[in-house]
Amino acid sequence: MPTYTYRCGGCKKEFDVFVLGQGKKVKCPVCGSENLERVFKPFKIAGSEKSSKCSSCSSSSGGAKPT
Ligand SMILES: [Zn+2]
Repeated sequence: MPTYTYRCGGCKKEFDVFVLGQGKKVKCPVCGSENLERVFKPFKIAGSEKSSKCSSCSSSSGGAKPT
């Protein structure tokens, strides 16, 4: 389930919204305004990079055999 970050044009508050489908009306939970602006945040690449590095490390040195 993707979450989008919006910034309210009324109170300037940022909040995350679970997007259930296209065309859904999103309102500011603070002031109820529909004057919202999408905020695009960069994905965290560092986290996935670290986990892939860790798995390759354990597969090369560790004795994890596929059963
Ligand atoms: Zn607001």
